[in-house]
Amino acid sequence: MHIIHLSSELSPAAKVGGLGDVVHSLSVALIKEGHNVEVILPKYDTFDYSLAKNLQVHYRNLLSYDGSTTYNNTIWSCQVDGISVLLVEPHHPSYFFSRGMIYGCPDDIDRFLYFTRASMEFIFKSGRKPDAIHLHDWPVAIAATLQKDMYSHLGLQIGGMLLTLHNIEHQGHCGVNQIARIGLDSEKYTTQESPKEVINLLERGIIDSTWITTVSATYLKEIMTLKGGHGLDLILKKHQSKIQGILNGIDYNYWNPKTDPYLSHHFNTPFESADHEIESVIKAKSANKKELQKRLGLRQRQVPLICCVTRLVHQKGPALIAKAIRRTLHHKGQFILLGSEGSNEMNKLFLSLQHEFAHTKDFSLILERNESLAHLTFAGSDMTIVPSLFEPCGLTQMIALRYASIPIVRKTGGLADTVFDISESKGRRNGFTFTEALDEMVDNVIDRAIGTYQKEKELWSELIENAVASDHSWGHSMHEYLSCYKNLRSITSKPVKKQKKKES
Ligand code: ADP
Repeated sequence: MHIIHLSSELSPAAKVGGLGDVVHSLSVALIKEGHNVEVILPKYDTFDYSLAKNLQVHYRNLLSYDGSTTYNNTIWSCQVDGISVLLVEPHHPSYFFSRGMIYGCPDDIDRFLYFTRASMEFIFKSGRKPDAIHLHDWPVAIAATLQKDMYSHLGLQIGGMLLTLHNIEHQGHCGVNQIARIGLDSEKYTTQESPKEVINLLERGIIDSTWITTVSATYLKEIMTLKGGHGLDLILKKHQSKIQGILNGIDYNYWNPKTDPYLSHHFNTPFESADHEIESVIKAKSANKKELQKRLGLRQRQVPLICCVTRLVHQKGPALIAKAIRRTLHHKGQFILLGSEGSNEMNKLFLSLQHEFAHTKDFSLILERNESLAHLTFAGSDMTIVPSLFEPCGLTQMIALRYASIPIVRKTGGLADTVFDISESKGRRNGFTFTEALDEMVDNVIDRAIGTYQKEKELWSELIENAVASDHSWGHSMHEYLSCYKNLRSITSKPVKKQKKKES
């Protein structure tokens, strides 16, 4: 099959969060199965070009519209980790992708609208006829509308459009004049949910895509409720017959404690057979723990060590993280917070905790994104906490499971689908869960986790065994995506029922 991803991120060359990881790992898994995969991205100045092999001009003089003016674009091709990547470089006076960042510009809507239209133009002009165009989140969601109302009429033949909802918190609210600039008839797209002068790009993608996936089954249920829908619950319910949940995986080659280049003490997961493997995991983890404590200036003590590796944004439950730090230190345990992207105010909250507990040498705060430290932290910690307010899928808990750092999570989205509390059945339980985002619930779960670690060695070994046995490699999910791609053509070719009035 020929699959084209239209995306704003691709790990590790252009990564902000889990979306980039998914595009990368899914592409690698599909290529291994012999499929033809291309990823189209903006040519960011921040793209890590040291990872791009055979970077060269692939297509010159691609004209694309912005309002009534056409601009020239150059399409570059390269290989990143064996994936064919196409980079769109607009020769536009706004220098859309030379801003030193992927997201966060005041004109993000215009930047990604332009990128999406130019990408569709490229697919059309270059004669590609993919079986699937796979869209990721709001930045490129409007491609589904461009195909339905513009390119299909021009003769672009594709199997269909699959939209993946990684996180519906961000939707892309766009003015009618902005959408008109990429050639769409703005009047057509105002809906009951969108007030007259605002078009919601993600909502348009939901309406116009052939098929939709979200990144976990529980998140799918949550986003169809008033509480979790971020205003899109009604439109999602209306289109629920074309939505399914597919859990993300992690790249098992990259996240492999047996070969991880960032570790000095390797261990084998999942266990291949013998009983002594649990012993060797515990031994290697203990050596990693000592190294981690030394690197971060923590006291060298055999106490429970809990970590949190996260973006410090509202979604990740920063107040609950702060509570977990206090409770862990109350139990004379240790805590490592590796947190990136925090606002000044957020960072201040944790800096004041650091100040308060500096004398204990049991709390380490690192306010940056640090890949090598993240690997050692998962390998050297006993537990990883992910207390998110909402979490579409979450990769952190899957990495923690693979690195035998027992996850403590709030039961939401993909966390609920991958972590099972010790109160659940033998063989299934692999961590600790709590339901409400309340201080007392955090206290309770930390008490239970530390209590089990300290007093129930046998149960702890069972948790480790179950954790490392959970399979979150891409194999299974990749096959689910493949069957979605395969079904697109038959859905697209079904005759459309006549609609009585404008779709809303
Ligand atoms: P999200 O995409 O919302 O940030 P996920 O759990 O899906 O959350 O993915 C987070 C990824 O980013 C994981 O690979 C995690 O290890 C990594 N990560 C998060 N914060 C940091 C950090 N401060 N340093 C290094 N890696 C981080």
